[in-house]
Amino acid sequence: MSTLRFHALKEVFNHKPVLVDENVRRSEIFGANVFNETTMRQYLTKEAFESVMNAISKSSKIDRIVADHISTGMKEWAISKGATHYTHWFQPLTGATAEKHDAFFETIGNGLAIEKFGGGQLVQQEPDASSFPNGGIRNTFEARGYTAWDPTSPAFIYGTTLCIPTVFVSYTGEALDYKTPLLRALQAVDNAAVAVCKYFDKNVKKVNASLGWEQEYFLIDSGLAMSRPDLTLTGRTLLGHSPAKGQQLDDHYFGTIPNRAMAYMRDLETECMLLGIPVKTRHNEVAPNQFELAPIYEEANLAVDHNSLLMDVMDKVAERHNFKVLFHEKPFAGVNGSGKHNNWSLSTDTGVNLLSPGKTPMSNLQFLTFFINTIKAVYENEELLRAAIASASNDHRLGANEAPPAIISVFIGEQLTHTLNELENVTNGKLSPQEKTDLKLNVVGKIPDVLLDNTDRNRTSPFAFTGNKFEFRAVGSTANCANPMTVLNTIVAKQLVDFRGEVEGLISEKTMKKDDAIFNVLREYIKKSKHILFEGNGYGEAWEKEAKKRGLSNNKTTPEALKAKVSKKAIRLFEEMNVMNKVESESRYEIEVEEYVLRIQIEGRVLGDIARNHVVPTAVRYQNILIDNVKGLKEIYGTGFKKLAKEQLNLIEQISNHIEGINSNVTKMTEERKTANVIEDLEKKATTYCNIVKPLFEDIRYHCDKLELLVDDELWPLTKYRELLFTK
Ligand code: ADP
Ligand code: MG
Repeated sequence: MSTLRFHALKEVFNHKPVLVDENVRRSEIFGANVFNETTMRQYLTKEAFESVMNAISKSSKIDRIVADHISTGMKEWAISKGATHYTHWFQPLTGATAEKHDAFFETIGNGLAIEKFGGGQLVQQEPDASSFPNGGIRNTFEARGYTAWDPTSPAFIYGTTLCIPTVFVSYTGEALDYKTPLLRALQAVDNAAVAVCKYFDKNVKKVNASLGWEQEYFLIDSGLAMSRPDLTLTGRTLLGHSPAKGQQLDDHYFGTIPNRAMAYMRDLETECMLLGIPVKTRHNEVAPNQFELAPIYEEANLAVDHNSLLMDVMDKVAERHNFKVLFHEKPFAGVNGSGKHNNWSLSTDTGVNLLSPGKTPMSNLQFLTFFINTIKAVYENEELLRAAIASASNDHRLGANEAPPAIISVFIGEQLTHTLNELENVTNGKLSPQEKTDLKLNVVGKIPDVLLDNTDRNRTSPFAFTGNKFEFRAVGSTANCANPMTVLNTIVAKQLVDFRGEVEGLISEKTMKKDDAIFNVLREYIKKSKHILFEGNGYGEAWEKEAKKRGLSNNKTTPEALKAKVSKKAIRLFEEMNVMNKVESESRYEIEVEEYVLRIQIEGRVLGDIARNHVVPTAVRYQNILIDNVKGLKEIYGTGFKKLAKEQLNLIEQISNHIEGINSNVTKMTEERKTANVIEDLEKKATTYCNIVKPLFEDIRYHCDKLELLVDDELWPLTKYRELLFTK
């Protein structure tokens, strides 16, 4: 009997819902462990408080002496909440968050000790960061990295540690993390959007990008998950036959949340409340044991931090509930994978959502301006957006007949399509007063009414307008949202800069009025970027053909998709918007290509190991039982045994064939890996892993899964799909 699997299954019966106290109101504990505005007012001097607030709203620098005051206040607060350590908390390009704890405790001689946390320690640290990915930056510059405080994301206490969100950069200033380019992109979109807003409202001084992510995940009993080496090492099952029942009955989606999962969610939500993560929505997803969690949207930098923190907290809370959280985009073949929709919009410091239609024709023209510019930005940079969400794990969704396709398109709904069609016909040049009035009354002015019945939500679109925001749906569930958010905000920033330039051009050269100029530029944008608009079925083959005709990219694999990150156009764009210099763009590309190679390499090794060392020996064992049986029949029945042993003999042969199938393919895969490993050129190596090594996974899996159906269940060592997916 395969002990681990059955031991884990037995354990599951002892795993009861771990109930948590929920006596307090959530609004009361919200942000209790965050050094937020309320706490700062209490613990900081007026000067220190204002300095932080100015850093948040105006990106102003914090003076070193003031930093000392802030750190002292922060320390007092943290110690009063039971914290003993502090850490700079950052997001290196590994995809995980990084922290290194130091105690507040310090000796001062004569056997005495105090609690200390100076401004210097708050503002800057030098973690020994040589083991973080840097894509050659540190080698090139022989510089170490340092972390620097990001006052726009508040410090928080997790467990007994004060965590200070920081950026992570090399000494020469190159970004080594996700946050730095994001902050620069947010600055770029702020500047560009404010300039455009001035056409409509002179009072606008700041534009914030908002992000509301929706995190999908699987919850699997930890014992069962641990019993699978593939889940433990790669985050997904590399083999496993589909269960008789999957998601075909649609009985999980929005169904009653199972008790254990519910207890987990409540515990998790309490933790989130304390950390100021405004989680709001929870529900079952489409696949069995799949769920979703969504917050109230926030300023994008904070939202990104909160999502990274959330993923850590989800893992930690899961341990208390004997669960393992699977963030992988496709942990199980045959049922839905997981994504992380990124809902995005822009809002002004005057309280206006620029992607929400307003009440007056003027505010609607502003809405249309941002709406059309976003569409144009996506059209001009669709390949770069695709690159921003490329990863080995997301390849299982995009381009693999699941969720959004690998082709980036924009869905806007029937009504807005109609509006754009009308705007496409406005007069070239100056508009007559009659036309302008007509437009304002009948086209622009009508948008809020028509949007009310814009309920046609196309679920297959990777980038959809949903009433007052765009929803970037192709983002993977494991992703750090900073990556897609950096690209989206950068391309929109660039587009808005161009737009303003063109409008100004028409105003000064053609002496057009502002409105005429805006209508004229928007008309040309609509004409130009129409090709990105698509309202149909994104899964169909017809769309692939149509998209090709329209000149849209369809990069189905990560090595193919990533290339757009280092195109001349992309490098120039990031440079121009001050988001990344060439070295940064190139190093990121290198890191991501390398990560792809490593992921596939690990999967190949794990699969080879499981197939040869778990599956084949089990199959042989079962085959021996059959052989003994056949021998016994022969002993008893003599020549007549063949008729009686017909099925057994057939099985014995089938098993041998599958064993042969596994062994030959594993050998082939190992050889191909060896060949790939010595390829110097990283791009070529990735392509080889993608096109030659990875396809062999399917062949190996095929034979393993067939054996799973043949071999005695009692002997099978790997926890089966039905057990992983339907044990609650
Ligand atoms: P869905 O139908 O895809 O589940 P919801 O309407 O539930 O979408 O919203 C999903 C997410 O969108 C939530 O996290 C919500 O906070 C976020 N959201 C709503 N409005 C905005 C906005 N203006 N900007 C950014 N995110 C938003
Ligand atoms: Mg959504």
